[in-house]
Amino acid sequence: RNLKWMMECRSDIDRLNASFLEIYESLIPREEEKVKQKQLLALLEKLVCKEWPEARLYLYGSCANSFGVSKSDIDVCLVISDADLNKSEVLLKLADILQSDNLQNVQALTRARVPIVKLKDPATGISCDICINNVLAVVNTKLLRDYAEIDERLRQLAFIVKHWAKSRGVNETYQGTLSSYAYVLMCIHFLQQRRPAILPCLQEMEATYSVTVDDVECAFFDQVEKLRNFGSYNKETIAQLVWAFFSYWAYGHNYANSVISVRTGSIISKQGKDWTRRVGNDRHLICIEDPFETSHDLGRVVDKFSIRVLRGEFERAAEIMQYDPNPCVTLFEPY
Ligand code: ATP
Ligand code: MG
Repeated sequence: RNLKWMMECRSDIDRLNASFLEIYESLIPREEEKVKQKQLLALLEKLVCKEWPEARLYLYGSCANSFGVSKSDIDVCLVISDADLNKSEVLLKLADILQSDNLQNVQALTRARVPIVKLKDPATGISCDICINNVLAVVNTKLLRDYAEIDERLRQLAFIVKHWAKSRGVNETYQGTLSSYAYVLMCIHFLQQRRPAILPCLQEMEATYSVTVDDVECAFFDQVEKLRNFGSYNKETIAQLVWAFFSYWAYGHNYANSVISVRTGSIISKQGKDWTRRVGNDRHLICIEDPFETSHDLGRVVDKFSIRVLRGEFERAAEIMQYDPNPCVTLFEPY
Protein backbone atom coordinates (compact mmCIF):
# COMPACT_ATOMS: atom_id res chain seq x y z
CA ARG A 1 0.00 0.00 0.00
CA ASN A 2 1.15 3.48 -0.72
CA LEU A 3 1.30 5.03 2.72
CA LYS A 4 2.56 8.37 1.58
CA TRP A 5 -0.35 8.77 -0.77
CA MET A 6 -2.76 7.80 1.98
CA MET A 7 -1.40 10.33 4.44
CA GLU A 8 -1.75 13.09 1.88
CA CYS A 9 -5.37 12.04 1.63
CA ARG A 10 -6.16 12.69 5.27
CA SER A 11 -8.59 15.54 4.82
CA ASP A 12 -8.02 16.80 8.36
CA ILE A 13 -4.27 17.31 7.98
CA ASP A 14 -4.43 21.07 8.75
CA ARG A 15 -6.47 20.57 11.89
CA LEU A 16 -4.08 17.80 12.90
CA ASN A 17 -1.15 20.09 12.42
CA ALA A 18 -2.66 22.79 14.62
CA SER A 19 -3.28 20.22 17.36
CA PHE A 20 0.31 18.94 17.27
CA LEU A 21 1.62 22.50 17.46
CA GLU A 22 -0.62 23.13 20.44
CA ILE A 23 0.79 20.09 22.23
CA TYR A 24 4.32 21.24 21.41
CA GLU A 25 3.63 24.75 22.78
CA SER A 26 2.16 23.32 25.98
CA LEU A 27 5.35 21.30 26.63
CA ILE A 28 7.85 24.16 26.24
CA PRO A 29 9.24 25.30 29.61
CA ARG A 30 8.26 28.82 30.66
CA GLU A 31 10.90 31.50 31.04
CA GLU A 32 10.65 31.52 34.86
CA GLU A 33 11.71 27.85 34.94
CA LYS A 34 14.92 28.75 33.09
CA VAL A 35 15.53 31.55 35.59
CA LYS A 36 15.17 29.11 38.50
CA GLN A 37 17.57 26.65 36.85
CA LYS A 38 20.16 29.44 36.51
CA GLN A 39 19.66 30.34 40.18
CA LEU A 40 20.28 26.78 41.28
CA LEU A 41 23.36 26.51 39.05
CA ALA A 42 24.74 29.73 40.56
CA LEU A 43 24.22 28.38 44.08
CA LEU A 44 25.96 25.11 43.19
CA GLU A 45 28.85 27.01 41.61
CA LYS A 46 29.33 29.05 44.74
CA LEU A 47 29.42 25.93 46.95
CA VAL A 48 31.67 23.92 44.64
CA CYS A 49 34.21 26.73 44.18
CA LYS A 50 34.79 26.98 47.93
CA GLU A 51 36.15 23.43 47.91
CA TRP A 52 37.60 23.24 44.37
CA PRO A 53 38.40 26.78 43.11
CA GLU A 54 39.51 25.46 39.69
CA ALA A 55 36.38 23.41 39.07
CA ARG A 56 33.67 24.37 36.57
CA LEU A 57 30.03 23.37 36.34
CA TYR A 58 28.25 22.79 33.02
CA LEU A 59 24.60 22.08 32.30
CA TYR A 60 24.00 19.19 29.95
CA GLY A 61 21.09 16.99 28.90
CA SER A 62 17.61 18.28 28.29
CA CYS A 63 17.97 21.46 30.36
CA ALA A 64 20.71 22.61 27.96
CA ASN A 65 20.08 20.83 24.64
CA SER A 66 16.76 22.66 24.05
CA PHE A 67 14.79 19.38 24.05
CA GLY A 68 13.71 19.69 27.69
CA VAL A 69 10.02 19.77 28.43
CA SER A 70 8.68 21.82 31.27
CA LYS A 71 9.39 20.60 34.84
CA SER A 72 12.36 18.42 33.86
CA ASP A 73 15.16 17.70 36.27
CA ILE A 74 18.48 19.27 35.49
CA ASP A 75 21.74 17.51 34.68
CA VAL A 76 24.99 19.13 35.80
CA CYS A 77 28.55 18.10 35.08
CA LEU A 78 31.37 19.04 37.45
CA VAL A 79 34.65 19.32 35.57
CA ILE A 80 37.81 18.99 37.65
CA SER A 81 41.16 18.52 35.98
CA ASP A 82 43.10 16.40 38.41
CA ALA A 83 45.12 13.48 37.11
CA ASP A 84 44.73 11.20 40.10
CA LEU A 85 41.16 11.99 40.89
CA ASN A 86 39.04 9.44 42.67
CA LYS A 87 35.49 10.02 41.47
CA SER A 88 33.86 8.30 44.42
CA GLU A 89 35.79 10.43 46.91
CA VAL A 90 34.87 13.62 45.08
CA LEU A 91 31.21 12.61 44.94
CA LEU A 92 31.11 11.82 48.66
CA LYS A 93 32.85 15.09 49.50
CA LEU A 94 30.44 16.94 47.20
CA ALA A 95 27.45 15.29 48.85
CA ASP A 96 28.81 16.44 52.22
CA ILE A 97 29.15 20.04 51.11
CA LEU A 98 25.68 20.13 49.56
CA GLN A 99 24.04 18.45 52.52
CA SER A 100 25.29 21.08 54.91
CA ASP A 101 23.79 23.83 52.77
CA ASN A 102 20.12 22.98 53.19
CA LEU A 103 19.75 21.10 49.95
CA GLN A 104 17.33 18.17 50.30
CA ASN A 105 17.53 14.45 49.55
CA VAL A 106 21.27 14.61 48.88
CA GLN A 107 22.49 11.16 47.85
CA ALA A 108 25.80 10.02 46.38
CA LEU A 109 25.30 7.09 43.97
CA THR A 110 28.92 6.04 43.59
CA ARG A 111 28.20 2.60 42.12
CA ALA A 112 25.86 3.68 39.31
CA ARG A 113 26.94 3.24 35.65
CA VAL A 114 27.37 7.01 35.62
CA PRO A 115 28.14 7.86 39.28
CA ILE A 116 26.24 10.94 40.46
CA VAL A 117 25.10 13.02 43.38
CA LYS A 118 21.34 13.60 43.45
CA LEU A 119 19.67 16.47 45.25
CA LYS A 120 16.59 18.62 45.43
CA ASP A 121 16.65 22.38 45.93
CA PRO A 122 13.80 23.40 48.24
CA ALA A 123 13.95 27.04 47.10
CA THR A 124 13.15 26.28 43.46
CA GLY A 125 11.70 22.77 43.76
CA ILE A 126 14.16 21.56 41.11
CA SER A 127 15.84 18.15 41.30
CA CYS A 128 19.34 17.81 39.99
CA ASP A 129 21.90 15.11 39.16
CA ILE A 130 25.59 16.04 39.25
CA CYS A 131 28.16 13.86 37.50
CA ILE A 132 31.93 14.31 37.24
CA ASN A 133 34.07 14.94 34.16
CA ASN A 134 31.48 13.62 31.72
CA VAL A 135 32.68 16.11 29.12
CA LEU A 136 31.43 14.11 26.12
CA ALA A 137 27.89 14.58 27.39
CA VAL A 138 28.50 18.33 27.52
CA VAL A 139 29.74 18.25 23.91
CA ASN A 140 26.90 16.08 22.59
CA THR A 141 24.50 18.47 24.34
CA LYS A 142 25.97 21.30 22.26
CA LEU A 143 25.61 19.25 19.06
CA LEU A 144 21.91 18.63 19.76
CA ARG A 145 21.32 22.26 20.68
CA ASP A 146 23.02 23.43 17.48
CA TYR A 147 20.86 21.12 15.35
CA ALA A 148 17.76 22.52 17.05
CA GLU A 149 18.73 26.03 15.93
CA ILE A 150 18.63 25.10 12.25
CA ASP A 151 14.99 24.15 11.74
CA GLU A 152 12.17 24.53 14.22
CA ARG A 153 10.59 21.29 13.05
CA LEU A 154 13.31 19.29 14.83
CA ARG A 155 12.30 20.62 18.22
CA GLN A 156 8.61 20.13 17.41
CA LEU A 157 9.11 16.55 16.25
CA ALA A 158 11.39 15.62 19.17
CA PHE A 159 8.98 17.06 21.76
CA ILE A 160 6.11 15.05 20.27
CA VAL A 161 8.21 11.87 20.07
CA LYS A 162 9.53 12.25 23.64
CA HIS A 163 6.02 12.95 24.91
CA TRP A 164 4.74 9.86 23.08
CA ALA A 165 7.60 7.71 24.44
CA LYS A 166 6.99 8.83 28.03
CA SER A 167 3.21 8.33 27.73
CA ARG A 168 3.65 4.86 26.25
CA GLY A 169 6.34 3.72 28.70
CA VAL A 170 9.07 3.26 26.09
CA ASN A 171 11.53 5.84 27.50
CA GLU A 172 12.98 3.57 30.22
CA THR A 173 16.51 2.33 29.58
CA TYR A 174 16.41 0.09 32.66
CA GLN A 175 13.44 -1.71 31.07
CA GLY A 176 15.19 -2.12 27.74
CA THR A 177 13.64 0.79 25.87
CA LEU A 178 15.37 3.93 24.64
CA SER A 179 16.75 7.07 26.32
CA SER A 180 15.56 10.56 25.43
CA TYR A 181 19.00 11.13 23.92
CA ALA A 182 18.47 8.18 21.57
CA TYR A 183 15.03 9.48 20.50
CA VAL A 184 16.44 12.93 19.71
CA LEU A 185 19.18 11.33 17.58
CA MET A 186 16.49 9.33 15.76
CA CYS A 187 14.67 12.59 15.00
CA ILE A 188 17.83 14.35 13.78
CA HIS A 189 18.74 11.44 11.54
CA PHE A 190 15.20 11.29 10.17
CA LEU A 191 15.25 14.98 9.21
CA GLN A 192 18.71 14.60 7.61
CA GLN A 193 17.26 11.86 5.43
CA ARG A 194 14.10 13.67 4.21
CA ARG A 195 14.14 14.74 0.58
CA PRO A 196 14.67 17.64 0.30
CA ALA A 197 16.68 17.38 3.53
CA ILE A 198 15.45 19.38 6.51
CA LEU A 199 18.75 19.16 8.42
CA PRO A 200 22.36 19.03 7.16
CA CYS A 201 25.05 16.80 8.62
CA LEU A 202 27.13 19.16 10.79
CA GLN A 203 29.94 16.63 11.33
CA GLU A 204 30.49 16.26 7.57
CA MET A 205 30.85 20.00 7.08
CA GLU A 206 33.98 22.12 7.62
CA ALA A 207 34.66 22.12 11.37
CA THR A 208 34.31 25.48 13.09
CA TYR A 209 34.28 23.88 16.54
CA SER A 210 36.65 21.20 17.66
CA VAL A 211 37.64 19.63 20.96
CA THR A 212 39.31 16.38 21.91
CA VAL A 213 37.70 14.63 24.84
CA ASP A 214 38.94 11.31 26.23
CA ASP A 215 40.85 10.71 22.96
CA VAL A 216 37.70 11.28 20.91
CA GLU A 217 37.92 14.11 18.39
CA CYS A 218 34.64 16.03 18.37
CA ALA A 219 34.52 18.41 15.42
CA PHE A 220 31.62 19.97 13.57
CA PHE A 221 30.28 23.08 11.90
CA ASP A 222 28.65 25.15 14.60
CA GLN A 223 27.88 28.47 12.87
CA VAL A 224 24.30 27.36 12.65
CA GLU A 225 22.90 30.87 12.30
CA LYS A 226 24.16 30.61 8.70
CA LEU A 227 21.96 27.55 8.11
CA ARG A 228 18.58 28.97 9.08
CA ASN A 229 17.20 28.51 5.54
CA PHE A 230 18.63 25.05 5.05
CA GLY A 231 15.32 23.19 5.31
CA SER A 232 13.17 25.74 3.51
CA TYR A 233 12.87 23.71 0.27
CA ASN A 234 11.04 21.10 2.23
CA LYS A 235 7.52 22.24 3.09
CA GLU A 236 6.44 19.25 5.16
CA THR A 237 4.44 20.10 8.24
CA ILE A 238 4.81 18.64 11.71
CA ALA A 239 1.78 16.34 11.28
CA GLN A 240 3.28 14.86 8.11
CA LEU A 241 6.66 14.44 9.78
CA VAL A 242 5.25 12.73 12.87
CA TRP A 243 3.39 10.34 10.60
CA ALA A 244 6.45 9.68 8.42
CA PHE A 245 8.70 9.24 11.46
CA PHE A 246 6.51 6.52 12.92
CA SER A 247 5.93 4.78 9.62
CA TYR A 248 9.67 4.77 8.99
CA TRP A 249 10.28 2.99 12.32
CA ALA A 250 7.23 0.76 11.85
CA TYR A 251 7.66 -0.31 8.21
CA GLY A 252 10.64 1.43 6.59
CA HIS A 253 13.68 0.68 8.74
CA ASN A 254 15.79 -2.37 8.03
CA TYR A 255 16.36 -3.68 11.55
CA ALA A 256 18.47 -6.59 10.34
CA ASN A 257 21.15 -4.59 8.51
CA SER A 258 20.98 -0.87 9.21
CA VAL A 259 22.53 1.52 11.69
CA ILE A 260 21.29 5.09 11.82
CA SER A 261 24.18 7.53 11.96
CA VAL A 262 23.83 11.25 12.67
CA ARG A 263 27.63 11.52 12.30
CA THR A 264 27.47 10.67 8.58
CA GLY A 265 23.90 11.86 7.97
CA SER A 266 23.07 8.47 6.49
CA ILE A 267 22.29 4.84 7.11
CA ILE A 268 25.37 2.65 7.51
CA SER A 269 25.63 -1.11 7.65
CA LYS A 270 25.73 -3.24 10.80
CA GLN A 271 28.29 -5.39 9.05
CA GLY A 272 30.73 -2.49 8.74
CA LYS A 273 30.57 -1.87 12.48
CA ASP A 274 30.61 -5.54 13.43
CA TRP A 275 27.26 -5.08 15.12
CA THR A 276 25.73 -8.19 13.59
CA ARG A 277 25.82 -10.42 16.62
CA ARG A 278 25.41 -10.24 20.34
CA VAL A 279 28.58 -9.35 22.22
CA GLY A 280 28.17 -9.57 25.99
CA ASN A 281 25.02 -7.69 26.77
CA ASP A 282 25.02 -5.65 23.55
CA ARG A 283 22.49 -7.22 21.20
CA HIS A 284 22.23 -4.52 18.52
CA LEU A 285 18.56 -5.20 17.75
CA ILE A 286 18.02 -1.53 16.89
CA CYS A 287 21.18 0.38 16.06
CA ILE A 288 21.72 4.06 16.81
CA GLU A 289 25.33 5.17 16.54
CA ASP A 290 26.52 7.76 19.06
CA PRO A 291 27.77 10.78 17.04
CA PHE A 292 31.12 10.90 18.91
CA GLU A 293 31.62 7.57 20.67
CA THR A 294 31.10 5.69 17.44
CA SER A 295 31.64 2.25 18.99
CA HIS A 296 28.68 3.02 21.19
CA ASP A 297 25.23 1.77 20.12
CA LEU A 298 22.46 3.62 21.97
CA GLY A 299 20.16 0.74 21.11
CA ARG A 300 22.29 -1.73 23.07
CA VAL A 301 19.89 -1.59 26.04
CA VAL A 302 17.16 -3.15 23.89
CA ASP A 303 16.71 -6.91 24.36
CA LYS A 304 14.69 -9.54 22.56
CA PHE A 305 11.63 -8.80 24.64
CA SER A 306 11.75 -5.00 24.61
CA ILE A 307 12.40 -4.85 20.84
CA ARG A 308 8.94 -6.37 20.36
CA VAL A 309 7.39 -3.82 22.70
CA LEU A 310 9.18 -1.00 20.92
CA ARG A 311 8.31 -2.11 17.39
CA GLY A 312 4.74 -2.78 18.49
CA GLU A 313 4.55 0.80 19.71
CA PHE A 314 5.97 2.19 16.44
CA GLU A 315 3.34 0.21 14.53
CA ARG A 316 0.56 1.34 16.82
CA ALA A 317 1.64 4.98 16.37
CA ALA A 318 1.86 4.64 12.57
CA GLU A 319 -1.63 3.08 12.43
CA ILE A 320 -3.06 5.85 14.57
CA MET A 321 -1.51 8.52 12.37
CA GLN A 322 -3.05 6.80 9.39
CA TYR A 323 -6.57 5.94 10.50
CA ASP A 324 -7.48 7.30 13.92
CA PRO A 325 -10.00 10.15 13.89
CA ASN A 326 -8.25 11.81 16.80
CA PRO A 327 -4.53 10.96 16.70
CA CYS A 328 -3.47 13.80 18.98
CA VAL A 329 -5.33 12.12 21.82
CA THR A 330 -4.97 8.41 21.02
CA LEU A 331 -1.25 8.60 20.31
CA PHE A 332 -0.50 9.69 23.88
CA GLU A 333 -2.96 7.47 25.74
CA PRO A 334 -1.24 5.86 28.74
CA TYR A 335 -0.36 2.22 28.09
P1 ATP B 1 14.90 13.94 29.68
O1 ATP B 1 14.07 15.11 29.28
O2 ATP B 1 14.18 12.65 29.52
O3 ATP B 1 15.57 14.11 31.02
P2 ATP B 1 17.59 14.20 28.56
O4 ATP B 1 17.87 14.96 27.31
O5 ATP B 1 18.12 14.79 29.82
O6 ATP B 1 16.04 13.91 28.61
P3 ATP B 1 18.85 11.68 28.99
O7 ATP B 1 18.64 10.50 28.11
O8 ATP B 1 18.44 11.68 30.42
O9 ATP B 1 18.15 12.81 28.24
O10 ATP B 1 20.37 12.04 28.87
C1 ATP B 1 20.95 13.21 29.40
C2 ATP B 1 22.22 13.54 28.64
O11 ATP B 1 23.19 12.55 28.95
C3 ATP B 1 22.07 13.53 27.13
O12 ATP B 1 21.67 14.75 26.60
C4 ATP B 1 23.44 13.16 26.70
O13 ATP B 1 24.25 14.31 26.71
C5 ATP B 1 23.93 12.24 27.80
N1 ATP B 1 23.69 10.81 27.49
C6 ATP B 1 22.63 10.07 27.88
N2 ATP B 1 22.76 8.80 27.48
C7 ATP B 1 23.94 8.74 26.84
C8 ATP B 1 24.66 7.69 26.25
N3 ATP B 1 24.20 6.44 26.24
N4 ATP B 1 25.86 7.98 25.70
C9 ATP B 1 26.34 9.22 25.73
N5 ATP B 1 25.71 10.27 26.30
C10 ATP B 1 24.54 10.01 26.86
MG1 MG C 1 17.68 14.52 31.93
